[in-house]
Amino acid sequence: MKKAILLLFLLSLFIQTAFAEMLNIGILDKQAVTSFIFYPQEGKYIVYTESGKLEEIDNTEIIELSFWNNKITVKSLEKDYGSFLKIRIIGVATKNAFKLKTNKPLGKIIKYEDNLFIRIHPYNNYLQLINNIDIDNYVAGVVEAEVGKNPPEEYFKLQAIICRTYALKNIKKHENEGFSLCDKVHCQAYHGKPKSEIIHQAAELTSNIVIVDSEINLITATFFSNCGGQTANSKDVWHSNLYYLKSVKDTFCLHENNSIWSKRIPKGDWIQYLITQHNYPKENLKDNCDIEYFQLNREQYFEKNNVQIPFVKLRNDWNLKSAQFDVTLDNNFVILSGKGFGHGVGLCQEGAMRMAKIGYSYADILHFYYEGVHMINLKSLNFFKTDF
Ligand SMILES: [Zn+2]
Ligand SMILES: [Zn+2]
Repeated sequence: MKKAILLLFLLSLFIQTAFAEMLNIGILDKQAVTSFIFYPQEGKYIVYTESGKLEEIDNTEIIELSFWNNKITVKSLEKDYGSFLKIRIIGVATKNAFKLKTNKPLGKIIKYEDNLFIRIHPYNNYLQLINNIDIDNYVAGVVEAEVGKNPPEEYFKLQAIICRTYALKNIKKHENEGFSLCDKVHCQAYHGKPKSEIIHQAAELTSNIVIVDSEINLITATFFSNCGGQTANSKDVWHSNLYYLKSVKDTFCLHENNSIWSKRIPKGDWIQYLITQHNYPKENLKDNCDIEYFQLNREQYFEKNNVQIPFVKLRNDWNLKSAQFDVTLDNNFVILSGKGFGHGVGLCQEGAMRMAKIGYSYADILHFYYEGVHMINLKSLNFFKTDF
């Protein structure tokens, strides 16, 4: 008996060490899943419940898990295992992956790597699914969900470092719900195992690399689609003055997909908006010069006739692709001619992709957009072992 207890203790130490760099990602929460099928795809799995080991399963078997009377029922084709409060399905081979298909509501098959934890949702009558996953496997999934499969490999490495840094900086975002990050854009989009092997390799080749500021704190690694030639200062967009998120001139993105845009708005609507929302002096609007505006560099305010309107506010109110645009007139229309797509703070993705295509390294690109930051090995931060 004593031996068994000692063995269990050693085993729990081993599990804690082996799982040290794992993240808990809340998946499919919005779907309010009440029943799903679990298929091992690669490796081998052991199903544990609150009372211990239940069953071993490999890729020839499937199990169905359902919410029933505030418990989780587990069934295979041949066997009804009963109902439980908590289930942990742990991969025990070197590489483990599984497929998951929700029955209620009916969903498509999604592939995930590593482990799956299931419990009753603390506030609602459905199952809470948590993908307990190696951080690099998660990062690879996020990179594919965020940027697709087309960019060059060097860009995937850069995006992997950014997504890893973001994940660790925000590791407590869903702490109250019992997991680290969700699978939506609220945290980072994550749709399970990536299809691209190159993306997987990019995450592995940059394993443990994160970005820190001069005080060795993980940076706020923001990114967006295209800056239109100049990125924005964080203080002008979000009122947070981070020294590494400051405006840089960028010629790399100028001929990419999202470098320019335009929008036609009826002149009357634009004038009405300026008067009612910003007290723009009516008498000045008869002259076209008071409507037209040219932003030579990225500016913070639309400033005319003692009225000051943040371009960020105009962007939000008119649902514009960016806050960098000129205003001209075409008869009864106002034409907004803009540059770039997105908030403009941090890394310009289309510029960075172009840099990667013409041979810049991920380190060069990173230092171009985030000035004065450092790349560091996560292990030297001792991240997982301290309360950061
Ligand atoms: Zn979230
Ligand atoms: Zn750019």
